Amino acid sequence: MPPTMPRVRIPLRLSHGSRAVIPSAKPQWVAQRAYGTVVDGPVAQSSQASTFEKALTATAPRHNWTKQEIKEIYDTPLMKLAHAAGAVHQKFHDPAEIQMCTLINIKTGGCSEDCSYCAQSSRHNTGLEASKMIQVGTVLAAARVAKENGSTRFCMGAAWRDMRGRKTNLRNIKEMVKGVKDLGMESCVTLGMIDLAQAKELKEAGLTAYNHNVDTSREFYPSVISTRTYDERLQTIANANEAGLSVCTGGILGLGEEAKDHVGLLFTVATMPTHPESFPVNTLVPIKGTPLGDREQSPFDVTLRTIAAARLIMPKTIIRLAAGRTILSEEQQVLCFMAGANAVFTGEKMLTTACNGWEEDNKIFAKWGLRPMQSFQAGKEEGASAPMREGAEKKKSQVELGR
Ligand code: SF4
Repeated sequence: MPPTMPRVRIPLRLSHGSRAVIPSAKPQWVAQRAYGTVVDGPVAQSSQASTFEKALTATAPRHNWTKQEIKEIYDTPLMKLAHAAGAVHQKFHDPAEIQMCTLINIKTGGCSEDCSYCAQSSRHNTGLEASKMIQVGTVLAAARVAKENGSTRFCMGAAWRDMRGRKTNLRNIKEMVKGVKDLGMESCVTLGMIDLAQAKELKEAGLTAYNHNVDTSREFYPSVISTRTYDERLQTIANANEAGLSVCTGGILGLGEEAKDHVGLLFTVATMPTHPESFPVNTLVPIKGTPLGDREQSPFDVTLRTIAAARLIMPKTIIRLAAGRTILSEEQQVLCFMAGANAVFTGEKMLTTACNGWEEDNKIFAKWGLRPMQSFQAGKEEGASAPMREGAEKKKSQVELGR
């Protein structure tokens, strides 16, 4: 961070992250392994060039990636990778469109989890004061302001481990979701772990998407969090998916992980039965008082490489430039947009701390010929992202064909 720039404490997007029932149409080797594990699957028969070439010329997402194939793509020389990602991005998305999301913290701090990057964990001394859940009216007023400023998705985060025993809170959150829907905006919530019944309740209330990040690779994950497992995260993602919600799940760069963990993170999400509708790429901004408070900022080339690789392996997914964006220059952000990122958080605050503001973003958009993505554009059916529709359509055609 330049010495003249104030240290911005950026909260990482709440990491709350699919049991996923693997459809029988999947190859057997996929069905036999847990997500995020190294598999004894078919070894890529192709050379590096051909794996790269296949990704570059793909016409639909694929879900049977091997770790080796993802590594080959991730290790591609960066400028070649970024150019290819830009080409794939233009094929699957309108490169002028960026989804503008505003995130509000509806319940701050006091979380029982020990995520080592998070200011809201009650186990870390960050000076953050815990608060009760805010009123429905306050949340909807913030949603209206967000809409007036151009945001089309409104995300609500609560610092909880899970939703067990939180019936009143869930009722209020459903009111918030309905209110946001009435404004014509997409809604997303991140509430920790949820079961299938809770996911269905949220879906019925009109929720568009559920955020629950996997954070990092399966292998590195225990170095970051000890109070819940990788598989618990995947189960929540699966519950959201099964309930018909779009899934937003991504990771955090700069936790002390290595390049192989970026590959592992991409492997986890790219081999889900349906790719996440949204893949947030966060970079750690160290927060004093957390175990990772003294870590150095993750270098920009790692962010760009992760975004570009994600675009090649998950061509339809919305890739979100999330926490850490405030320290990127305008040109660095634009480079990320060229390499496949097509969503940002914007507004007054991102959970507990600063965020790039609407005014600043609108200026950048005007200068570079970008415009906000409309609501529900990714899926004509509410709650059904393009990848999910693709999965549903495939299932339907298989049924029709009597498979
Ligand atoms: S400590 Fe709690 S609020 Fe913070 S990321 Fe972990 S689960 Fe979310």
